[in-house]
Amino acid sequence: MAKIAINIATGSLQQNEIIVGIDLGTTNSLVAIIHPESKQPTALKEHGQSSLVPSIIHFGDTNEIIVGEAAKSFLISNPENTIFSSKRLMGKTYNDVKNGIKNIGYKIIDEEDKLVKVKVKDKFYSATELSSFILKELKTTAEHTLKTAVNKAVVTVPAYFNDAQRQATRDAGRLAGLDILRIINEPTAASLAYGFGLDKKQEKTIAVYDLGGGTFDISILKIENGVFEVLSTNGNTFLGGDDIDNAIINYWIEKVNEINKISNQQLRIAAENAKKALSKEDDFATEISTVKITLSQNELQKLLAPIIEQTIACCKNALKDAALTINDIDEIIMVGGSTKSPIIKKAITQFFGKAINDTVNPDEVVALGAAIQADILSGNTRDILLLDITPLSLGLQMAGGLMDVLLPRNTKIPAKATRQYTTQKDGQSGMIISVYQGERDLVKDNRKLDEFILKGIPNMPAGFAKVEIGFLINADGVLNVSAKELRSGVAQEITVKPQQNLLDADVEKMLQQSIENAKNDIAIRALVEAQTEAEQLLQTTEKFIQKNIALLTQQEILDTTKAMQALQFSLSLADKNLTQSKIEELNQLSKPYAERIMDNAIAFSLKGKEV
Ligand code: ADP
Ligand code: MG
Repeated sequence: MAKIAINIATGSLQQNEIIVGIDLGTTNSLVAIIHPESKQPTALKEHGQSSLVPSIIHFGDTNEIIVGEAAKSFLISNPENTIFSSKRLMGKTYNDVKNGIKNIGYKIIDEEDKLVKVKVKDKFYSATELSSFILKELKTTAEHTLKTAVNKAVVTVPAYFNDAQRQATRDAGRLAGLDILRIINEPTAASLAYGFGLDKKQEKTIAVYDLGGGTFDISILKIENGVFEVLSTNGNTFLGGDDIDNAIINYWIEKVNEINKISNQQLRIAAENAKKALSKEDDFATEISTVKITLSQNELQKLLAPIIEQTIACCKNALKDAALTINDIDEIIMVGGSTKSPIIKKAITQFFGKAINDTVNPDEVVALGAAIQADILSGNTRDILLLDITPLSLGLQMAGGLMDVLLPRNTKIPAKATRQYTTQKDGQSGMIISVYQGERDLVKDNRKLDEFILKGIPNMPAGFAKVEIGFLINADGVLNVSAKELRSGVAQEITVKPQQNLLDADVEKMLQQSIENAKNDIAIRALVEAQTEAEQLLQTTEKFIQKNIALLTQQEILDTTKAMQALQFSLSLADKNLTQSKIEELNQLSKPYAERIMDNAIAFSLKGKEV
């Protein structure tokens, strides 16, 4: 990982900054790096602890913040001050989550369509802040084990996370003092950990089966030319290891005599222990408060059956959405602690009819893949592309201040688009190219990224120049905008700063505004389009009359002037329908004499040729 460089300006030695990979999970989180000596992806752990940091935050009596294993016991002893599964709240409003938040001991503020806030004692915390506490803990772990400052990270998110959720994750990083260089999808990270996609010639379709503590995700990925593409995702955000534990508890409650001698907390711990033990051993037996408790493989298999069945239904849906069959899948990757169960592994092998990949620890596989991506970003590994998407539309300012989108939001990057434009005035020698980002119809409501002028367009009549504008976004989100007048070859281009840096402010807000204003925006766009058309028609008619005044009758000139005045007047009223009908009237009126004059001109020029 560490590379030594010399700063030419100061002559000092510089150590390349470490970039860590982080799996910010619903149940467990962890941090990994590429080991400087072994060059192998390696999960980091504080001395004597597991690499897994439970994603639990406890606010103590003196307002100290305890994260991870030490916070776990407070889930039962002090639930109102102990937050778990905060990932579920990321980028969500109260209305989004209100149905999923039963059985939690902490307080969520009911503010309908505002971003969720959690109340602990007399303080309010956003989901972003809560996640930042977990990230800070991981940063500290990394700094303790590596004995150096850690300020940069690659963080994973579920493939289905939307822009707002990704942005919230990025913001959490910033609060924790981590610059998140790249957010990558969890299934993509898992594939990287298995080495898929590192060879650019490799073409593979991969199913990533991820059964964690409280969520199940199935993602179908395609790798081609080192580019990862998510073909489909499916799953259940309320299905995971916790449901297995609950099934075991309920079974014992029915079956075991004197079960009421055992506390709920003891029962929960015993259930998880039994489940984990049966991932390795044939039987499980324990005694709590003189009550004997057992669980056999057979019993567990029966309890797991309905859960496995649900995951397989999701797999079928994901295949259907990707328009693939089981035979199209080249690799099946196991991710998440719950896939350590041999019963689950066997069932999934049977469903796909093919051996599964489970050689990389399913607890760590996502973080290890993030570490590989971090290593690629630090320039240490062969470069490979990771498919990302544009979070907001990119486009140009058009006449009347309208936004013309070249790359719609959610376009997969790297991406390219070109479109041709023309000049509006005779002899126009320059064209202003203004680049905007956003979803609104008028550029003034969007974010201006950059602007440049294409100069030196040769003297041509309006509408004659052919200016081709090209947008190109590379894999790092850097946008390059080029403009070329095709008749003359005059060209110019600019590079706009990386997209990530531009997204620090609220992508979510921009999207929300575009939805709220959609109806109004459409009306404004229609009006502006009609007005632009009217202005152009007024100009060309004016020019035509001046040029051909000798060939027109008095009546024709009078009628046309009147129609032009009426059109001009409609513009001052900002009435789209009126403007459109006046455009139509003027066109109808000028059509007969325009045709007559054109026919004459053609006849004249043909005659000329014969001579
Ligand atoms: P998440 O991705 O949601 O943060 P994890 O991938 O860390 O979750 O999975 C946590 C779940 O894995 C818990 O329900 C835990 O009980 C379960 N788990 C961990 N180890 C085993 C095991 N050996 N056998 C079965 N389940 C396990
Ligand atoms: Mg996970």
